[in-house]
Amino acid sequence: MGIKENLDSIKKTIKNPACNLIAVSKTQSVEAIMEAYEAGQRDFGENKVQEMTDKQASLPKDIRWHMIGHLQTNKVKYLIPYVYLIHGVDSFKLLLEINKQAEKSDTIINCLLQVHIAQETHKFGFDESELETLISGDDIRKLKNIQIQGLMGMATYSEDLEVVRKEFKYLKSLRDKLNSSELPSNVSLKELSMGMSGDYLLAIEEGSSMVRIGSAIFGERNYRK
Ligand SMILES: *Cc1c(COP(=O)(O)O)cnc(C)c1O
Repeated sequence: MGIKENLDSIKKTIKNPACNLIAVSKTQSVEAIMEAYEAGQRDFGENKVQEMTDKQASLPKDIRWHMIGHLQTNKVKYLIPYVYLIHGVDSFKLLLEINKQAEKSDTIINCLLQVHIAQETHKFGFDESELETLISGDDIRKLKNIQIQGLMGMATYSEDLEVVRKEFKYLKSLRDKLNSSELPSNVSLKELSMGMSGDYLLAIEEGSSMVRIGSAIFGERNYRK
């Protein structure tokens, strides 16, 4: 099947119209992205700053670019002119840098806070108590050039779908719990970015508002190019 057919069949399975499809185009060519673009896709996700910046320069300007990977503070400045949403914000230090660079460019950058939900210990993200401290503290209120839009999580890479479901449920319940307290004006927790090719249907059942799908659209990635 081609990219357009894959997109069409995935869209048919996303029954919730409020759930956004982000086509994860990391390692994919500009031509492959254009094929998805011509099929109507506008949201694309990348995990490397250099790769995303290069692609952004040569692709249509109405594409919404999502940074979904781990972001280093020294690379933030390259994204600021065009990024639509940064999904993987996993430290206060990174928030500070995004705010600083956004202020320089007189813009406001949309961010999601990454939460550690998987069993693997190497995954990035805040845990529950860190998140509560961050959101209820005074420091975050001073960051006038960021807008937190929600939470992002990656489930354990597992065949056991009940483990995965539990982690998605946990992320949603954490979002709902934080939402029930009074939030700073630059924090709203509307969005839940969760679900990839292997588990997006589960994620949608558990309340995802953004699924990040790569291989099910573009086919397997070729890292050797
Ligand atoms: C690569 C990646 C995806 C997409 O993975 P697929 O399994 O190809 O759908 C989603 N989210 C993040 C953070 C990724 O790095």
